[in-house]
Amino acid sequence: MAFDSLTEKLQNVFKNLRSKGRLTEDDVKAALREVKMALLEADVNFKVVKNFVKSVQERAVGQDVMSGLNPGQMVIKIVNDELVNLMGSETTEIKFQPGSQKTVIMMMGLQGAGKTTTTAKLAGKFKLKGKKPLLVACDVYRPAAIKQLQINGEKQGVEVFSMGDNQKPANIAKAALEHAEKNGNNVIILDTAGRLHIDEEMMEELQEIKNTVEVHQSILVVDAMTGQDAVNVAENFNEKIGIDGVIVTKLDGDTRGGAALSIKAVTGCPILYVGMGEKLSDLEQFYPDRMASRILGMGDVLSLIEKAGEEIDEEQARKMTEKLKKSQFDFEDYLESMKQMRKMGGLGSIMNMLPGLGGMGGLGKGKMPDIDADDAEQKMARVEAIIYSMTIKERQNPDIITPQRKRRIAAGAGVDISEVNKMMKQFEQMRKMMKSFPGMMGGKGKKGKFK
Ligand code: GDP
Repeated sequence: MAFDSLTEKLQNVFKNLRSKGRLTEDDVKAALREVKMALLEADVNFKVVKNFVKSVQERAVGQDVMSGLNPGQMVIKIVNDELVNLMGSETTEIKFQPGSQKTVIMMMGLQGAGKTTTTAKLAGKFKLKGKKPLLVACDVYRPAAIKQLQINGEKQGVEVFSMGDNQKPANIAKAALEHAEKNGNNVIILDTAGRLHIDEEMMEELQEIKNTVEVHQSILVVDAMTGQDAVNVAENFNEKIGIDGVIVTKLDGDTRGGAALSIKAVTGCPILYVGMGEKLSDLEQFYPDRMASRILGMGDVLSLIEKAGEEIDEEQARKMTEKLKKSQFDFEDYLESMKQMRKMGGLGSIMNMLPGLGGMGGLGKGKMPDIDADDAEQKMARVEAIIYSMTIKERQNPDIITPQRKRRIAAGAGVDISEVNKMMKQFEQMRKMMKSFPGMMGGKGKKGKFK
């Protein structure tokens, strides 16, 4: 996960500050030297780092400490504010044309950046917003690209327009617009061809598309793992074609995060979304404030809640809440809740968003490095195996499970009987706990509801 080591280093800096009652100018300077090193190691552009540290210093020195905060917390607040500033302050949405007009979006980027995948991911997001997208295969050079778009389009339930690989991309774009007119598509996403490096031919091709059809949003896809190269690519495309926004992919695999932190400051172009995995649901809207809080190790509970809203079947969630309230939550529901959790990308992805879990560590509360996502997934699989070897009746009425039945269940799941006992005991405890806190699963009023 991105920013892991940056988060850890910043937390150390802050820990040292927190132990002091009053901060002198020297304390602040020493802390900022560490912050600077941490940012440079995270591969943040050096000019960006310089300006960042300067702004924090100017604000930190001579600032009255806000009531309720100690000096260390004050510095954290300033660093947080400046990180948010750096990444663009506000969330930038992709702008659609007003009314019933069509919006044409041109996706650009180097080969392998994740353009085709991201195109399909975006189509899914638009569909959720009630749009009717059309994906257009304009990458006529990479033979697998058209097929890949078709497969991903199908997975998303979105139509893909292609004319094979014998036509010029600009002509394909034009024909796609005519098709969209007849077909009622209101968002047309052009998946253009990348190259291994920036080259003239690619830029000319993109320009020709822009000259042939009216492009409303040009979106650049860059790979976070390429660090500062991604920032250079963004500068280049912005100069030659002009970009309205950037999508940074593979943030899940990039431990440093420098590109995400530098792009806005260097190019002036906002980050719209970030790719967090290979699955088509792994695209997250980019919120500078939430990202800053993730970097500082404060977790990102808001994104987690939103993800839950998107992925969890609301009707299911409502039913489960009802059952919980009446204390009827049974093993069938337990299985279902594990399935829902998988849909959200597994425990690993959820843990990374929770304060105090994942690689982030809780601010001030100490980390919980022992939690291993793989280990947790494995445990979940064993619990599932145990439940699967129960009969439906047993799942619905856990009370009828006698020691004899437990032995049979254990044998069926290939585990020791003690594991079945332990699991059932925990399940009972969970039921009791949930009965006492119905709000935990969205049981009380509006506040706790998914979405
Ligand atoms: P294109 O050449 O730019 O169209 O790139 P592709 O869409 O074919 O993506 C290249 C590879 O990156 C594929 O294996 C994708 O599954 C993978 N990929 C794309 N986005 C992400 C992401 O956000 N995270 C991870 N881990 N992999 C990604």
